[in-house]
Amino acid sequence: MTLHNDVQRILFTEAEILAGIDRVAKEVTQAYAQRDFTVVSVLKGSCVFASDLIRRIPIPLELAFLAASSYGDGTVPGRLEINFLPTGNEIEGRNLLLVDDILDTGKTLLAVRDELLRRGAREVRTCVFLDKPARRAVDLQPDFRCFEVEDHFVVGYGLDFAGRYRNLPFVGALREEIISAARTRNGA
Ligand code: 5GP
Ligand code: MG
Repeated sequence: MTLHNDVQRILFTEAEILAGIDRVAKEVTQAYAQRDFTVVSVLKGSCVFASDLIRRIPIPLELAFLAASSYGDGTVPGRLEINFLPTGNEIEGRNLLLVDDILDTGKTLLAVRDELLRRGAREVRTCVFLDKPARRAVDLQPDFRCFEVEDHFVVGYGLDFAGRYRNLPFVGALREEIISAARTRNGA
């Protein structure tokens, strides 16, 4: 019994993902060719994407992390919490490239971007693995993105459902029974 049995449909294979990241890595490399910058990976979801992305960017960069959580155990957004941020000197006066797994309503990245600017970042651009424009609730477009997805709940390649499935090497849609079973367990 493996996690693969819970996936109804694969949306992006590992090979498609890596080709998409190659493309975005070239765009990022061009954009920052003349400027120092720091990649800020939003944990936990973007750690897989960020680690593949930075290895395809052949110019100097620094790496920092922050943690934000907006989802509890299910597929419905909860309250956003920024759990930790890079230290002051990793933010102040720096050009930051904020990297996240998915831009959904956009509330997470907007809140994080505003907080980084408030703490003195020189510039904050955004780079997302997946973009769900149909769900956007705030005025924010990613500066860089790998793929657009329709309004499905997706897992894999860093994205979780109730903490699991981040280690799948592809992006897929879960079988409906998996989601409804978890809802029943949570009394929702
Ligand atoms: P936003 O604030 O843009 O609505 O939400 C962004 C966060 O919600 C993402 O970083 C991710 O953690 C979570 N999220 C949004 N859509 C999905 C999805 O389809 N699958 C998973 N696993 N997480 C999602
Ligand atoms: Mg996230």
